[in-house]
Amino acid sequence: MPKSDQASEEQGRAALRAALFVHRRAPLSRLLARRGLGPYRGYGELLEAIERLADRGAQLSLIGRSIRGEPLLAVHLGAASSAAARGEGRAAERLALGAQGGRSVMNGASLHGAHDDSGPPGGADDPAASDAAVASSAERAGPLDPRLSRAAGLRERERTTVILSGIHPLEWIGIEAHLALLERLATQDLGGRSILAVPIVNPDGLLRVEMNLRAGRHRYVRGNARGVDLNRNFDAGWYERGLIQRLIGLVFSPGSRPASEPEVEAIAHALSPRRIDRALSLHSAGGAVLYPPAHSLWPVADAAEHRAFALRVARAADRRPYRAMSYVRFAWGIRKAGLEIDWLHDRHGALSLLVECSRGKLGLRPSRLVEPFAWHNPRRLDDATPPLVDALLPFVKGARA
Ligand SMILES: [Zn+2]
Repeated sequence: MPKSDQASEEQGRAALRAALFVHRRAPLSRLLARRGLGPYRGYGELLEAIERLADRGAQLSLIGRSIRGEPLLAVHLGAASSAAARGEGRAAERLALGAQGGRSVMNGASLHGAHDDSGPPGGADDPAASDAAVASSAERAGPLDPRLSRAAGLRERERTTVILSGIHPLEWIGIEAHLALLERLATQDLGGRSILAVPIVNPDGLLRVEMNLRAGRHRYVRGNARGVDLNRNFDAGWYERGLIQRLIGLVFSPGSRPASEPEVEAIAHALSPRRIDRALSLHSAGGAVLYPPAHSLWPVADAAEHRAFALRVARAADRRPYRAMSYVRFAWGIRKAGLEIDWLHDRHGALSLLVECSRGKLGLRPSRLVEPFAWHNPRRLDDATPPLVDALLPFVKGARA
């Protein structure tokens, strides 16, 4: 392993170990299983699972920090994993520096610059901004400089599948399905493809839910530490206008501007030099496989391809198939700007699926009816995740529709 890859891997590991040191507690899974909520693992146990993936050969990188300073960890599998980990390690250093100063050093111009060089077909969206970015990123000498990216070789341009989960703090089955998927992928030949996975996008939210669960408080939690719904904060159709939008914004709080939240910014930054053609985001519940658009009524140009994949995943995900449709048809009447699937599709040109894992069947137990955690997570994990993992594997491995 080249020296710089090693340094980045060390950084990811060190951040993980530090978080584990702080968050190692009595296993939550036993407590929840006793309460009939299912054997879900708490933050510390999930970090241990990520560490075990790294022990088995996955690369870790620190792509940023949450508002409360939790590490945002990316797991890399496949051919390009070391180059990727190296680039994102540097990105995280800069993001961490920015966070210390109270605001990030990242700005729109540098994001545009990186996108300009290595983005999807569609090209530059703002030539003036990207010129500025080339100049400023050359000074910083990071991977955002297109010339340096080119010098680093073509490894960063290999086809990448992005997998996200844990954006919404209560949707833990998505994280469990994600980790099960990574365990399967870790044993397989991925061809030339690389996987960039962020299993816990919103660690602050997850920790808040865990605190509530341990204390027996039945609370609904949707945002990050500032109460922003991270899945309304991506730079896709993002807008803030009109009284009704602002009222809806109280529920689906979109943040002060696109990528205003460090968790979303870290993902945008980590993905910017990559050639992403597949993207998967795991949520719950609702038993649905959704595809872009969310923020527009017009079908996307590659709607047929999206639909073919969505149907294929939907049919295999459960004995009774999930629904498959565009997000805008699935969720009428709620704010639909700033979603990850639209951003991954519009910005990166990726075939993008959002899976609402499981069906949120509650049963009649009062302890489940009053517990928002139970609305989002089925009691039986071993029933729900294996077929889901089987259903998702071909898509994330780049199979044709
Ligand atoms: Zn969700």
